[in-house]
Amino acid sequence: MLTKVIEQAKIDHFTKWFERADKIVIVSHVSPDGDAIGSSLGLYHFLISQDKIVNVIVPNAYPDFLKWMPGSKDILLYDRYKEFADKLIAEADVICCLDFNALKRIDEMADAIAASPARKVMIDHHLYPEDFCRITMSYPGISSTSELVFRLICRMGYFSDISKEGAECIYTGMMTDTGSFTYNSNNREIYFIISELLSKGVDKDDIYRKVYNTYSESRLRLMGYVLSNMNVYSEYNTALITLTREEQGKFHYIKGDSEGFVNIPLSIKNVCFSCFLREDTEKDMIKISFRSVGTFPCNQLAAEFFSGGGHLNASGGEFYGSLAEASALFEKAIEKYKPLLTAKG
Ligand code: 5GP
Ligand code: MN
Repeated sequence: MLTKVIEQAKIDHFTKWFERADKIVIVSHVSPDGDAIGSSLGLYHFLISQDKIVNVIVPNAYPDFLKWMPGSKDILLYDRYKEFADKLIAEADVICCLDFNALKRIDEMADAIAASPARKVMIDHHLYPEDFCRITMSYPGISSTSELVFRLICRMGYFSDISKEGAECIYTGMMTDTGSFTYNSNNREIYFIISELLSKGVDKDDIYRKVYNTYSESRLRLMGYVLSNMNVYSEYNTALITLTREEQGKFHYIKGDSEGFVNIPLSIKNVCFSCFLREDTEKDMIKISFRSVGTFPCNQLAAEFFSGGGHLNASGGEFYGSLAEASALFEKAIEKYKPLLTAKG
């Protein structure tokens, strides 16, 4: 049995909307990851099984290793089909905002979502949700939005209508947001949910292979290159890796190729904080990813120095300036956070 995470009043409120709605739009954050796509498609499969007209819209492209997911072909990219997407957003009865807590996380889509008269619900697990939805289901203690989607469908009484396809999407989001159940994954209910998803016919081992073992040769070479240039700040228990636009070109970089790189330095003994600085391919900025183990609050450092945020152990931000400037600021940040970085335990 699962604990009731989502308040009953919110389940009842959403169920009322759901029963009356014909057109439902599901949106998720910019540079969608496994949980963004997994939760969106998980909910999508359920809603189409209830004969709703459903559209999943994300701000921009997502990595190739998520394209096998059932329903992936139906996802609309806002930056390519803006006019059509704007129409769907304006005409929706209900808009489900998944895996983000603030309108700025959906970039160019924000205005259209804010302006739409549709009823809006947030289903998310990031800290500090902004107040832009009539129903806010925000549970930072839950490790993925996909898990929340599973919990929502079950609480509405529709477990039996979750299809194998929907279960695969939900599983993928749960797996990717926990590093294949290596962090944020000590809640035993996660494994109860996995067991329920397996009962739908999900092949979890095959999903792992499809997500993590279908990269290109050049991606692996890029990984070797990035790691060989890694900076380890032993006195700070910290590691830094970087990637310039030029280096990306050399290794035929495509979106998603550096996914997961930021986690690797954490496999060094005593390193509890890892940073990845990458010159963005689309915007003139440095994309920043942070990961930590234990109690080090990388989201706090991200917010203070890089106007970013996220979770305790996985956060990020953006930096407008050169890579050298970003690195220098990073060094300043770890100097300030040295007491926390070197604290025992
Ligand atoms: P990733 O390193 O996978 O890009 O991001 C990890 C987490 O950091 C995301 O799930 C998100 O919570 C947070 N994050 C990443 N980039 C940003 C950003 O620019 N702003 C904020 N507020 N959070 C971010
Ligand atoms: Mn997530």
